[in-house]
Amino acid sequence: MTLAELLPSTGCSTAPALEPGLWPDGTLLAGSDLVLGGVPATRLAAQFGTPCQVLDELSVRARAREFRAALPDAEVVFAGKSLPCPEVYRWMAQEGLSLDVSSAGELALARAAGFPASRIVMHGNVKTAEDLKAALQHGVSRIVVDSVDEIGQLGALARHGQEVMIRVTPGVDAHTHAAIATGVEDQKFGFSLASGAALDAVLRVAGQPSLRLVGLHCHIGSQVRHVASYEEAARRMVGLIASCGVPVGQLDLGGGFRAPYLPGESSFDLFGFAHRVRGTLHRECALRRVPVPRLLVEPGRAIVANAGVTLYRVCAVKEGTRTFVAVDGGMSDNPRPSLYGARYAVRLVGRGGPTKPVTVVGRHCEAGDVLAENVPLPADVHAGDLLAVPVTGAYHHALASNYNQVCRPPVVAVRDGVARPVVRRETEEDLLRRYP
Ligand code: PLP
Repeated sequence: MTLAELLPSTGCSTAPALEPGLWPDGTLLAGSDLVLGGVPATRLAAQFGTPCQVLDELSVRARAREFRAALPDAEVVFAGKSLPCPEVYRWMAQEGLSLDVSSAGELALARAAGFPASRIVMHGNVKTAEDLKAALQHGVSRIVVDSVDEIGQLGALARHGQEVMIRVTPGVDAHTHAAIATGVEDQKFGFSLASGAALDAVLRVAGQPSLRLVGLHCHIGSQVRHVASYEEAARRMVGLIASCGVPVGQLDLGGGFRAPYLPGESSFDLFGFAHRVRGTLHRECALRRVPVPRLLVEPGRAIVANAGVTLYRVCAVKEGTRTFVAVDGGMSDNPRPSLYGARYAVRLVGRGGPTKPVTVVGRHCEAGDVLAENVPLPADVHAGDLLAVPVTGAYHHALASNYNQVCRPPVVAVRDGVARPVVRRETEEDLLRRYP
């Protein structure tokens, strides 16, 4: 007997089929309920309340394993900012990934997770003295320097042979939203390759006796679609390695691998990336007569995005020139639509039937607090309905705020029919604790 047959039917079975590629592995429909990691969404909403960010553990682990399988010789570094949570960091440690942190706060979570310091890399376009001190105190394996000031500060703080990488702006356009395009000139990240600042940074690091240059880094952006963008970055970075005049053993090409958010969007071609970028690296290094550096990649979104589903309760439906479906969350748990115009699919749990296009909006005091526009929902959608929004595993918990003093939702991990919070729901006591 299948799990779907074991679960009680929740009524009408005309719920539309699941959009392929958007939902966590193993998600299924039982009647019109949605079963995530073996746990019905209706049960999750009843037990943990809404909004609720559900995270399918096995999907996270499966994506991590895919990266390791596709790139067996590379170091796969999970971008901890995409889903900062000690339990998720533990899964990554168990799957053999390294971890990147970009602040003392993320490092504190990594420590709480017991993540081995020898596999932690610290990033950040601006690191405060506290960030640098925490990284040194904890003995993180590498620090990626991002400014001349930082090289000086780190050089003064570090004691002996702290391994560093240099963040380079390779001038590669990754054809993504301007707010997440980080490899082009004229933005705040890294040392420009074109201007010579990157080569100058190599000399500056060499001039700091307490630092040891082990690698070069670049991150060309997020939601990168084309393998060719990484190949171009690899070519340019090998060119820089060849002009460094010192051995550079590691080349970190960053993260940014695209995740599909809407029906019909494809996933990033990871195996194509592995094959083509490896080929490019070997060819360019042979051409320029430099040893092939060890490759590092830093996926965040591609590992956790599709493992996440957010459940919301409909609070009100407002009919006008459009139908607005207002839910109990919004930009405080998902600011991505207002930050980068991100778009989402939405499904009503518990009922199917003829649909009409609606706009799903949040509860916050901003006209831009729109979660999804022009999405089909059952025409009789009403207050009390449960909505599920897929692809909410990355940069949702991470970017959540307390706007309007709304408490942030929990992250509930599901696996094999068991649900457990890995981030608890925030309470009003949590909010009040900060006010003297
Ligand atoms: N590496 C660096 C340096 C980043 O800044 C980021 C994201 O901002 C990532 C990796 C992860 O990017 P993504 O989650 O798109 O894979």
